[in-house]
Amino acid sequence: MNKQSINPQHLIFALVLGVLGFAINCYPIPIFANVQLVIGNTFTIISAVILGPWYALITAILSASGLMLTWDSPHVYLIFGVEALFIGYSRRKGLYPLYGSALYWLTIGMPLTYLYMKTFSDLPDSHMPFAIIKQGINGLIYASLASLLIILIPKLWSFNGQSIAKARRSFNDQVTYFMTLMLTLCLLISALTFNYLFLDKQQTLLHRNLTDTTVHLSYATEQYIDNHIKVVEYAANFLSLANTSSDEWQPMLSKLHSNYPSFITMLIANDKAQVVAGSPGVMMLDENNIIKDMSIKDRDYFIESFHNRQVYVSPVFQGRGFGNDSIIAISAPFYNGNNETKVTGIIEGSLDLSFFSSIDNQNNFGDKELLVLVDNNNQIIYATSELGLTKHEEFKYSNDKGQYHIALDVIKINNLEATSPDHVYTKKQLSNGWQLYVLQPLSPLLKTAETQMLGTFILLIISIILTSLISRKVCQLLTAPLEIVANQFGQMSNEALKRQVIDENSSKEVFNLYERLTSSKRALLKHQLELEETVAIRTDELEQANKKLLALVDEDPLTGLKNRRYAEDKFDGLLDFCLRGEHAITIVILDLDFFKKVNDTYGHLAGDECLRVVSKLLKNEFKRDTDIVARYGGEEFLLILPLSNALKIEQHLNNFKQKLSEVVITSPTDNQVFSVTTSIGAITANASFSPEIDLWIKIADDNLYTAKEQGRNKVIINVVNEDSEEIKAQ
Ligand code: GH3
Ligand code: MG
Ligand code: MG
Repeated sequence: MNKQSINPQHLIFALVLGVLGFAINCYPIPIFANVQLVIGNTFTIISAVILGPWYALITAILSASGLMLTWDSPHVYLIFGVEALFIGYSRRKGLYPLYGSALYWLTIGMPLTYLYMKTFSDLPDSHMPFAIIKQGINGLIYASLASLLIILIPKLWSFNGQSIAKARRSFNDQVTYFMTLMLTLCLLISALTFNYLFLDKQQTLLHRNLTDTTVHLSYATEQYIDNHIKVVEYAANFLSLANTSSDEWQPMLSKLHSNYPSFITMLIANDKAQVVAGSPGVMMLDENNIIKDMSIKDRDYFIESFHNRQVYVSPVFQGRGFGNDSIIAISAPFYNGNNETKVTGIIEGSLDLSFFSSIDNQNNFGDKELLVLVDNNNQIIYATSELGLTKHEEFKYSNDKGQYHIALDVIKINNLEATSPDHVYTKKQLSNGWQLYVLQPLSPLLKTAETQMLGTFILLIISIILTSLISRKVCQLLTAPLEIVANQFGQMSNEALKRQVIDENSSKEVFNLYERLTSSKRALLKHQLELEETVAIRTDELEQANKKLLALVDEDPLTGLKNRRYAEDKFDGLLDFCLRGEHAITIVILDLDFFKKVNDTYGHLAGDECLRVVSKLLKNEFKRDTDIVARYGGEEFLLILPLSNALKIEQHLNNFKQKLSEVVITSPTDNQVFSVTTSIGAITANASFSPEIDLWIKIADDNLYTAKEQGRNKVIINVVNEDSEEIKAQ
């Protein structure tokens, strides 16, 4: 865009389009996961089509800035800037914007996106095709939209000085493009809608599965814990009421434990916090099989049950003293009889948490669901091993969705810094305050979306190719009869009209057109023939009239002699003719003597008659084809006599003079008779003497003057040859 070519109106239009694009691109339409529909670039394409590549670049930079704000990724300037230039230039070459867009994304846009992502983004390779195809599809969507807007509201885009010259396209190209455009848009919109609905359904199903599992598992967990709390509670009640001695506690505890193997260990401690019974029995013995002196004074479960006199369920902890499994302790106080003021001791069971892995495993009948159970302190009680989480540690996660659009609750566990979540989940709080998370990896859902997107793209490309092939074929069927009609009428003669060239299968409209054209062509041909005939007659008449007119122009009406102009015009040609043959030419001027007197005496009409008689005589005396006899003016005559014989011409003139004097002229008014004489001045010379007629006439005129001087009725002639200027003068 050089300086002279910047058109302020175009610049403003490009900026307005850019601002619109910017505003729309600030809010990309979320479709699924991190798939967003970018619609603002529609204006870049419009700018490219209407204003050309460089104005489109301005629009593209503005529009891409909207995306830069939301995506924070400068590659948008590169990808969409180059796109604007490409489509602008390809449009100038006559390519439709949708074709240009498809070509751009296949050859430049998608490879560029790939290179950019490979170099600058942390997107895993498996996600690349998806992200790239997503861009391509998006490009086709807004190119179609732009094309449609341009076609549907042409008035909006056409203004003075629109920069791009529109090449005239064939019907075939137009129909193919419109069909492709419609198909692309319909296919894309329906594919996106279908994908959206399908994924929505998938998500609902997934959500329902997760919720069901959560409810089921939380119920099972609650039951498991409640049952064991009840066991401990009942045992404590029994110990309070049965008034047993401490000797009986050990066998009783062992029996109880054997009925409830989910407890890893069980123990009974007295009011001094000394363990007095334990199961399995070995835990009471040291390495020398001597009963250990064990105090549990500092344990939470002892403190809570003994001092606060309540049934207590501990948070999860690593067992010590009696093994180091992950356990929760359930403890309850027991009393001396019914006297609840005096606590005799506590009974405790350490509940085995590996139970959850069995319910976790049992649960996996369908898709792999992953469990995380955390206690009130958000410490992990149990987590499915695939998750790689450590028991007793805090459950760390992030459920920040960021740009991610998904109806389900999603969570990041593996990498809290990642831009996209890795699992979908549901969560339920158990009655004891624990939280149960049921999770499923997000990748299968994403994979489905990716496969669909890829399928859509492949389908789209195939459809575009098929549409263009089919519509080309259809167009040929439509345009072939039209071409035949056009050819027929372009070169048609009357004979051609007689045979019908149009096929019976051609459409009604085309056939009607053919018939109408035939009849009007017939009428036209008839009219043309009539016209040609009339023109021929008129031309002939005109030619005749013209000839007459020409003759009249050259003739003197009174005498029928040629006039002075004609004679002078012919002089050059005659001179050339004589020059070639080195012939002599004679110029003669005659003036009737005392003509005024004739008029005065016999009347004007007699004068006219006299002139006619003189003319007739002149014509008779100088009758060679090449001789020119002209009335020079009034009663003066000019003779141009080529091929003169210098020796005989004077005699010839004298003869004429003599004959004239002998002619008897009758006055037409009163039949009086009279005669007339003439004075003659002449010059005979070789044609090379002078090309100027004026010189010849001057000499002849001078001679005439001399003849008059010398008494009239006289011939004076100069005969000039090349050697001497004048050989004879009289
Ligand atoms: P000169 O011997 O000296 O030539 O005497 P002239 O009387 O012929 O003198 P001039 O040449 O001056 O006179 C020409 C006369 O010719 C004048 C004019 O009335 C007459 N004339 C010129 N054209 C026509 C014509 O067409 N018809 C008639 N009747 N007379 C004409
Ligand atoms: Mg005269
Ligand atoms: Mg005269």
